[in-house]
Amino acid sequence: MFARMANVKAWGTPAAGKPLAPMSIERREPGARDVVLEILFCGVCHSDIHQARDEWSGARFPMVPGHEIVGRVARVGAAVTKLTVGELGGVGCFVDSCRACGPCREGFEQFCDKGAAFTYNSTEMDRKTPTYGGYSAQIVVDESYVLRVPKGLDPAGAAPLLCAGITTYSPLRQWGCAAGTRVGVVGLGGLGHMAVKLAASMGAKVTVLSGSAGKEADARRLGADDFALTKDRGVFDKLANTLDLVIDTVSGAHDYNAYLRLLRTRGTMALVGLPTENASIRPGALIGKNKRLVGSMIGGIAETQEMLDHCAAHGIVADVEVIPVDAINEAYERTLKSDVRYRFVIDVATIKR
Ligand code: NAP
Ligand code: ZN
Ligand code: ZN
Repeated sequence: MFARMANVKAWGTPAAGKPLAPMSIERREPGARDVVLEILFCGVCHSDIHQARDEWSGARFPMVPGHEIVGRVARVGAAVTKLTVGELGGVGCFVDSCRACGPCREGFEQFCDKGAAFTYNSTEMDRKTPTYGGYSAQIVVDESYVLRVPKGLDPAGAAPLLCAGITTYSPLRQWGCAAGTRVGVVGLGGLGHMAVKLAASMGAKVTVLSGSAGKEADARRLGADDFALTKDRGVFDKLANTLDLVIDTVSGAHDYNAYLRLLRTRGTMALVGLPTENASIRPGALIGKNKRLVGSMIGGIAETQEMLDHCAAHGIVADVEVIPVDAINEAYERTLKSDVRYRFVIDVATIKR
């Protein structure tokens, strides 16, 4: 039996930058279209750290982070048809949206004109009820915003697909990654290692650009053909004008102009990493060869399902370090030092104890 919805065990933070600690939260009793997930695993995204420390400002506390959620369906409302009790379900970065606006109808629910209900640090669409994320024992979500986790995917390794996976799959697809495309991946962390696996599965030739010399062997094992250590400034001359598509996953301030130089004529650099600092772009870095600089934010529900199905077809999950929840504060520190191979995932059984 699951705990009363009013007293769900969770880990979160009471205020910006405070350590995460045990807390209790309320979840609604499931309605006719709701699914109750007993959470099994929740990935630790760098965005959790940005938000728990209020680095993007406007954060709501208390905060229970976590938007890479895989759980087992424990209960379903009477009208639910998408999932049945006992199956695995996934929840990513948002749990609802208006369903009526242009972006919602076009499958871009994350850009809902009314503002999507994000999985945490947000509210439900009533704009009053706070949302709490996946560092918790259970979550209650409308079936339309729950993903089917295909059989055969390891549940711990599948959890990071719900954010790191879709965030890199979407720009690869949008900007034409296919057999023979020369893709550069900047930063080999949670997002970066998924970008490498996914681009390689689409037949791309992948170059990893990393600040960590110790990651070369991993980059090649993950599917990269080439590895460039960015501390060696010579690599920027060597790789100039060679890449069709660059996916920049870096979480901290860095010089975008140096990476734009690596694009061939009419190439595209897609930013997914979200540092807090303003960036300086030299217009000539774009104008010289009609280059494009674009951004990309997660993906809609249909595209997220497509990504999960692609991962199942290609045998792709994240490389994870599964941790007990009481290691979460240390995991944040290690993530900040680029010391994670390549995603921490909380074993949510340790929250329920
Ligand atoms: P992560 O696991 O910490 O990986 C980031 C990697 O970037 C690090 O492993 C490191 O790779 C490199 N790096 C970090 N700081 C750097 C610096 N100052 N200069 C150069 N390289 C640096 O983080 P993540 O979970 O992949 O998230 C990455 C970023 O994407 C975060 O800002 C996060 O908020 C954002 N994000 C955006 C979306 C979206 O929808 N657009 C979704 C999820 C996350 P090397 O060791 O290889 O250098
Ligand atoms: Zn994320
Ligand atoms: Zn909408």
